[in-house]
Parts: sequence; C-alpha cells; structure tokens
Amino acid sequence: ATPAATMVGSTISATNGVLFKGGDVLEKVRDVDAVVFDKTGTLTHGEMQLTDVVALEPHADGGATADPSEVGDPTETADPSEATGSESPGDSLDAESLLLAVAASAESGSEHPLARAIVAGARERGLDLDDPIEFENVPGHGIRATIPRGEVLVGNRKLLREEGIDPEPAEETLLELERDGKTAMLVALDGQLLGVLANADTVRESAKRTVEALSDRGIAVHMLTGDNERTARAVAEEVGIPADNVRAEVLPEDKADVVDDIQADGSRVVMVGDGVNDAPALTAAHVGIAIGSGTDVAIESADVTLMRDDPADVLKALRISEATISKVR
Ligand code: ADP
Ligand code: MG
Repeated sequence: ATPAATMVGSTISATNGVLFKGGDVLEKVRDVDAVVFDKTGTLTHGEMQLTDVVALEPHADGGATADPSEVGDPTETADPSEATGSESPGDSLDAESLLLAVAASAESGSEHPLARAIVAGARERGLDLDDPIEFENVPGHGIRATIPRGEVLVGNRKLLREEGIDPEPAEETLLELERDGKTAMLVALDGQLLGVLANADTVRESAKRTVEALSDRGIAVHMLTGDNERTARAVAEEVGIPADNVRAEVLPEDKADVVDDIQADGSRVVMVGDGVNDAPALTAAHVGIAIGSGTDVAIESADVTLMRDDPADVLKALRISEATISKVR
C-alpha cells in the first residue's frame, strides 16, 4: 500500500474499533477466501460458568453409575463449616461437594478459563479450597496436581486414559453434557474416577449473523478448537458453521497446521483468535485477527485487533479494507 492508503486506513479503522498493524494489512484483508474462528473466547464470550457437578457412585463390582444433579442454588450444598475439620477435612462433605472441592483446589493453580469457572463455582458454594502442593498444566488435556488430599487429575478423556484411568463409567454423562454444548471435565483422585464437572459458555450475540454474512460473500467459515468434537459441533450448529468445517480436539501446537492445511490450495485465510494457544495460528494465517480482550500474545501475533471483542467487526475490517483500497486507487 502507499503511505496515503496506510493513513486513510488507520484513521478510519481507529474510529471503528478496528486496529490495523500497518498499511499492507489493509490490502491483505480484502483478498480473504476463508475465515477460521477459534471457538472459546472468540465466537463465545469465554466466560465459563460451572453448570453441573456429577459424582459417580462407586459400585461393588468396581463399576460406577452417574447420579446427575444439575447445580442449582449454591446454598443447597455443603455447610462451609463442615469442610474445615482438621483431622479428616471434607469427610463430612456429600459426594458432589467433595468432587468440586478436590477439583477446585487442584485448579486454583491454573489461569485457564475452565479452571477459573470451577474455582469460582466452588467458592460460591462456600467450599474450602486447599492450595496445590504441586501443579502441572497438560496442554490440550487438563491439569495434574497434588493437594493435601491426594493426587488429582482434571481434564478430558485423553488425560485420564494417558494416566491409566478408564473414563467409560462417565461416558453417558459426558455425552449428555457435550450434546448441550457444555465442556465436560473428568475428575480423578488417587487413580479413582470421582465424577464429572461441566462448564457452559455463551455464544457472542453477533456470531451467527457474522457467519451468515461471510458465507453470503462466498467466504468459507471454519471453527478451530481444543474442545471436544460434540461440544464444538453444538456451538457450530448454533452459529451456522457447517459440521465439515469444524476442527475439534486440536492440540495447541497443532492449531497453526490446521491453518496451513486450509491454505495448502492457495486459499487465503483470516484466523480470528484470542488465546495464547491461537498465537501460532494467527501468525500462520494470511491475516491474523485478535480479539481485543484476548491475551497479549495473541494481540502481538495478530495483524488486526478488534477493540470491541465483536466478531461482526471482522466484516467491518473487510469493508474498511475494500473501501480504503478502492478510494486510493
Ligand atoms: P481451547 O482454548 O481451544 O478451548 P485448550 O487447548 O485450552 O482448548 O483445552 C482443550 C481441552 O483440554 C479443554 O476442552 C478441556 O477438556 C481440557 N483442559 C484444558 N485445560 C484444562 C483445565 N485447566 N482444566 C480442565 N480441563 C482442561
Ligand atoms: Mg480461545
């Protein structure tokens, strides 16, 4: 782009809450063939709420059954004073409260939105939490932590399988939650599957019409997420992204490869993301667009930042790009 184009573009864009990093970006945005949206924090608000706590009942035959109970009034659950006994803290807790206290104590070492929702949910219910003695993130899988009560795992099926724990007793519960678009997580203590937690997120208000408008322009719309297939599909359906264009259970280090795959036939991809996880994909894409409230790493890796966190501003970026270039030419 000419310096004039850069200036015109930057001026217009700043007042519209769309920041372009340099003039050549303005030209690149116009040429887009496909838009790839990250799910969590991009198409959705990324503000998770703990919605379900499901303890599995151990059976004599070694199996377990689910006793699903939707989380309702936080005051229904444990009396906080019960959790503070010094000899065997938490022994007086019901199974659901114990499950949640164990998971939240372990997750208090994590900054992940899933972790924050679990910790907040436990606090709202008046549960006492321990600080983890040891804590380890297992990217794309969950966490591993040692708390005074024992060794805790919180994460997806893959995490438990890799630790030699069979997630099968929880399968029916997991499927039910995932079909609702919730992110379900397994919780294990000292090698024993305790149960399932689920967090729900809400889709951003403009996501659906943005997907529609992009499709109407002949732009292919994809979704990319580390979340599981069923949850991803439920959200994709809600916003109108075709099931064939959903890439789920993608490990953080593989997100850029998915963008490269789509670009392999010469397609020019706009990647829209918010997370640390998304940074390599934002760099790999023809144009990277970061959500303004996203992580610093995402914003640094992106060519464009949407100051208002609104997916519809992807369309605005396209329009600004088109208008600016045609005016200058
Ligand atoms: P994304 O940010 O794209 O949703 P991540 O790679 O952060 O994906 O996580 C992928 C999956 O790994 C999550 O859907 C969840 O099942 C599991 N996971 C990641 N971090 C945690 C955590 N702190 N606690 C529980 N599960 C987690
Ligand atoms: Mg995200």
